[in-house]
Amino acid sequence: MRPNARSQLRIVVLDGAARIGAKILISGGGRCNVTHEIVRPEDFNGARPIVRNVLAAFDAEATVRWFASMGVTLKREETGKLFPTTDRAQTVLDALLRRCAALGVHVLTGHRVHDVVAASPTDDPHALRWRVRHEHGVLAARAVVLATGGRSLPRTGSDGAGLAIAERLGHRVTATVPALVPFVLGASFHPEISGVSQSVELQMFVDGKLADRRSGSPLWTHFGVSGPVVLDASRHWTLARDAGRAAEVRCSVFPGETFETIDRRLLTASRSRPRASLAGVLAETLPERVAAALARAAGLDPTTRVAEVARADRRTLAHRLSALVLPVERDRGWDHAEVTAGGIPLDEIDYRTMASRKQAGLYLIGEMLDCDGRIGGFNFQWAWATGFLAGRTAVRARCA
Ligand SMILES: Cc1cc2nc3c(=O)[nH]c(=O)nc-3n(C[C@H](O)[C@H](O)[C@H](O)COP(=O)(O)OP(=O)(O)OC[C@H]3O[C@@H](n4cnc5c(N)ncnc54)[C@H](O)[C@@H]3O)c2cc1C
Repeated sequence: MRPNARSQLRIVVLDGAARIGAKILISGGGRCNVTHEIVRPEDFNGARPIVRNVLAAFDAEATVRWFASMGVTLKREETGKLFPTTDRAQTVLDALLRRCAALGVHVLTGHRVHDVVAASPTDDPHALRWRVRHEHGVLAARAVVLATGGRSLPRTGSDGAGLAIAERLGHRVTATVPALVPFVLGASFHPEISGVSQSVELQMFVDGKLADRRSGSPLWTHFGVSGPVVLDASRHWTLARDAGRAAEVRCSVFPGETFETIDRRLLTASRSRPRASLAGVLAETLPERVAAALARAAGLDPTTRVAEVARADRRTLAHRLSALVLPVERDRGWDHAEVTAGGIPLDEIDYRTMASRKQAGLYLIGEMLDCDGRIGGFNFQWAWATGFLAGRTAVRARCA
């Protein structure tokens, strides 16, 4: 480090929003799911070797230690998600801003950046190569970290403008689509069971081929369907549709069972309890409202005695229960998406430092990169890890 280099170090955060950290405040239902107890590369969609290396450099334990160093203790919930013990996202944001203040980082809100422009590289590592044009003027800088997020929830300030800046600097941006997003369903039974959650297996077919299979709990709503299993699967649907491909979501409400086992189950019930109602038999496994709605959706009266259901009707019902095709009309869009799928390809950054491979002195981090995690604190872990790598390197390079 050159003498006095630290004291000359000036770090400025320019944020277009009037208040910084909007997503932290609304995340995790206002509690901020900071990370997950176990973070594996498989929890992310993105170039696996690069994701693995980034996560290894700053893992969940590092996140826990880092927050502890800022006075924020985290607690683990049954699902493995970690939240602040206060159950308040504000605790997380306050700690980050306190740390900025302690380190002398200038945080300027209401400073939307319009463009970032580079002068030709020089041999002088201390040259102010960058011009950051923002709504109140121009800032000269030696290094620039782009951390403008993706396109999800644009009213928080993350509207994709940063992706356009990166493109102008020579980066590619792959197609960006909403991910961790609910589905709007066409005419179906969902309004009848709004508010109900149950276990299902969800299968996503793209051009007729199985693209994703996962189990979990959907949440039926007045507009369609949400819930962790749907949100996690949604990226496969949105990416496929964006590429003009056919996508179909099938749902088994008897996870682990097949058409044959469900049909046998109904047949056995019709013999052993012939007077039981169809809905009553289904409700031995399913929530009552779901049982009745699914029977009706198959064109059957839920109060019909199970023994009186014709063989063909029983088989149609068993087929639906094992592979119910959800009539997905559309995803709920950017205003309801928790994250962005697509972005700047990971092979355009150096995963050890998050430095751009296109421009010296430029770093790219967080959701603007082509990597998205599943529900559970993984997207923040990605933001913390990439931010750590870029920050460490940008400061070192500056002080060398
Ligand atoms: C409702 C919701 C709940 C979520 N809950 C969780 C959760 O509990 N756990 C989890 O892990 N993840 C969660 N996420 C995802 C997580 O919030 C994001 O993945 C994460 O915030 C991405 O961090 P980032 O710093 O890359 O981008 P962002 O958090 O989006 O921050 C980008 C910042 O850049 C600023 N900006 C953008 N363009 C410009 C510009 N041109 N000039 C100046 N400033 C600009 C924006 O104002 C914003 O402050 C949630 C997301 C949503 C929408």
